[in-house]
Amino acid sequence: MTRDRITDSRKLLGRLRDIMAVDAGGQTRLDQITGLIAEEMLIEVCSIYLFRDADTLELCSTEGLNKEAVHHTRMRMGEGLVGLVARKGHVINTDDAPSTKGFRYMPETGEEAYSSFLGVPIQRLGEKLGVLVVQSREARKYSEDEVYAVEVVAMVLAEMAELGAFIGEGAAMSARHQQPVLFRGSTAQEGTARGHVWLHEPRVVVTNPFAEDPTRELERLNEAVDELRVGVDRMLSHARSGDKEQLEVLETYRMFANSKGWMRRIEADIGRGLSAEAAVEKEQSTARSRMGQVADAYLRDRLHDLDDLSNRLLRILTGQGGQTGAEMPPDPILIARNIGPAELLDYGRSLKGIVLEEGAVGSHATIVARALAIPLVIHAGNITTEALNGDPILVDGDQGIVHLRPDDTVFAAFKDKMAMQAKAQERYTSIRDKPATTLCGKTLSLNMNAGLMADLPSLAGSGADGVGLFRTELQFLIRSQMPRRGELSELYARVIDAAADKPVIFRTLDIGSDKVLPYMKPTDEPNPAMGWRAIRVGLDKPGVMRMQLQALIRAAAGRPLSIMFPFVAQRDEFTMARAEMDKALERERVLGNPTPSTLKVGAMLETPSLAFSPEQFYQEVDFLSIGGNDLKQFFFAADRENERVRRRYDTLNVSFLTFIEQIIARCAASNTPLSFCGEDAGRPVEAACLAAIGLRNLSMRPASIGPVKSILRRTDLDELAGVIARASASGTQSVRADVMDYLREKL
Ligand code: PEP
Ligand code: MG
Repeated sequence: MTRDRITDSRKLLGRLRDIMAVDAGGQTRLDQITGLIAEEMLIEVCSIYLFRDADTLELCSTEGLNKEAVHHTRMRMGEGLVGLVARKGHVINTDDAPSTKGFRYMPETGEEAYSSFLGVPIQRLGEKLGVLVVQSREARKYSEDEVYAVEVVAMVLAEMAELGAFIGEGAAMSARHQQPVLFRGSTAQEGTARGHVWLHEPRVVVTNPFAEDPTRELERLNEAVDELRVGVDRMLSHARSGDKEQLEVLETYRMFANSKGWMRRIEADIGRGLSAEAAVEKEQSTARSRMGQVADAYLRDRLHDLDDLSNRLLRILTGQGGQTGAEMPPDPILIARNIGPAELLDYGRSLKGIVLEEGAVGSHATIVARALAIPLVIHAGNITTEALNGDPILVDGDQGIVHLRPDDTVFAAFKDKMAMQAKAQERYTSIRDKPATTLCGKTLSLNMNAGLMADLPSLAGSGADGVGLFRTELQFLIRSQMPRRGELSELYARVIDAAADKPVIFRTLDIGSDKVLPYMKPTDEPNPAMGWRAIRVGLDKPGVMRMQLQALIRAAAGRPLSIMFPFVAQRDEFTMARAEMDKALERERVLGNPTPSTLKVGAMLETPSLAFSPEQFYQEVDFLSIGGNDLKQFFFAADRENERVRRRYDTLNVSFLTFIEQIIARCAASNTPLSFCGEDAGRPVEAACLAAIGLRNLSMRPASIGPVKSILRRTDLDELAGVIARASASGTQSVRADVMDYLREKL
């Protein structure tokens, strides 16, 4: 590029800035801009098309075409060359527009006279706002420099639109963020919430797109990039060598931060008169529009990384941290691409709901959201670019649906649903202190699952009889390094204190599979759910297990203690783990520390193999708890994390119920207390069936205690057992239909 041309584009931007500096209506400004571009670039036509709605572009200003067509000529996304530029997010540069594929003649504009056409998308961070077009009579392709100049103007236009500069007569840009949008995601935590958007990472606002002194801007850029590189290197040196994913992301950061091409493009834009931040944002915008078109998941992830890196650079350049001065609404619904468990815990119960673009059912953030009972929808499209801070939003965690800026009818229907839920909640509260006694006079023990201190207030609130499953791994997962024994023992003591006289069953560390500790060397296993996890890790590397057992004994400080080992597949695993417990007790005795007044050591039955273990095993354990989530996935060979297969097999399948009945029978024969603590225990119909086939102890999320107690109190288990037996004998695959018919009639 010649020096003259750089000076020219800088002059163009300088004049553009002058236009923007004068207070004028949106239409006047648009007209001034199209006039200016035509004049400066010595071309006959310059037009601006903006989105009227998500699918319609409107000619909003022109220099050179028929002015009467302004606000009349409209086209759909993908229609004509302008619509094509908008849809593809690509430049179209042709010397023979009428013969170019996609051309559509619009007689009202008088554009038939122009051969060459250059269309550039107006987009901000991948979000489509419109198209900037220049046309000339002479049949020629526009030069690279001309294309660049138009791109830079388009970028400035996009920036101004975001700032609301054009909002006013005719211009349609403001419509974009005002319309209702529906997102269909997946359920990660049930429940409904109504509130206002709170962006976890608010967008950086670039307030000065122009700069007069490119040398100074280049200096600013270089300083910021240096700071960025130092930051990335620091993150790399602190990253756990074990966390492959984190390292991969950081290495990509480093690669981009040192990428010459990336820097050169930003520097060239600064040379043309953009401020350093506007140049970074322009580059980010291009990458974002590419992101939507890349099918390869790995590449898309890398583009996401580049996007994150650009955000970091923008924050350094603008001095805007996570805080933009916006105030958190009183009913915040958190919107993020993804979020870590510790960050989520920082927000705590202040959140009414959470919506993530990514996320996973088994992710740590999901586990925390569940513990806090905050409705969570994951895989919600591109919600972070659609939502603005303060937008009204409805989260339907039951259906996995999110309504952003809902219209009145949706809002009313949602309110009805919430009111019904509130009514049901009142009903549950009224039976909170009543026993879970069925119509046929059998009383069940309903316990809650927990994993965080934050769960404990639910013990009183839900009316649970105790904590049937305390998942200790959460404390390990939310930290960046291995917790110390003293810390753990203090925490377990607080859990026992908070439970007062209600029993708590602590499950020892269940890591591996989907739960990978950030500070432990990961194992590259082809099938981690069936791999080196839970008790297998505990027995092979007993250091952590010993530390945890000791912490538990110290926490009990002479009070009763119950623990269980996860994922026991055969008798000797339990025997060895129990021996570790005995050794730990002995050590404490020798040290003169108090030992628990009563100690119960149980196992989780999560693999079919354990059900068939020898009688001696049933004698040996103090109790068993069926981990239905894992047991079901291994019974049906259907991955609990895989959306495709996870709902394929019904818990009320006759084979599965028969299998559970056999476990119940074996426990009854050996007098081994048995409970069920998988997710199914918290689903009312499933819970009623489990009770009907003989389970008397269920452990579930706190929010499920009310609904489960309510159905049990209205059900005759003997009758229901009859329904199940008859359906099973009929050869049906699942008893669900018969059970539902019966319950509908009775309840
Ligand atoms: C289970 O597998 O049912 C269970 C309760 O354990 P988790 O869900 O933590 O694997
Ligand atoms: Mg399990």
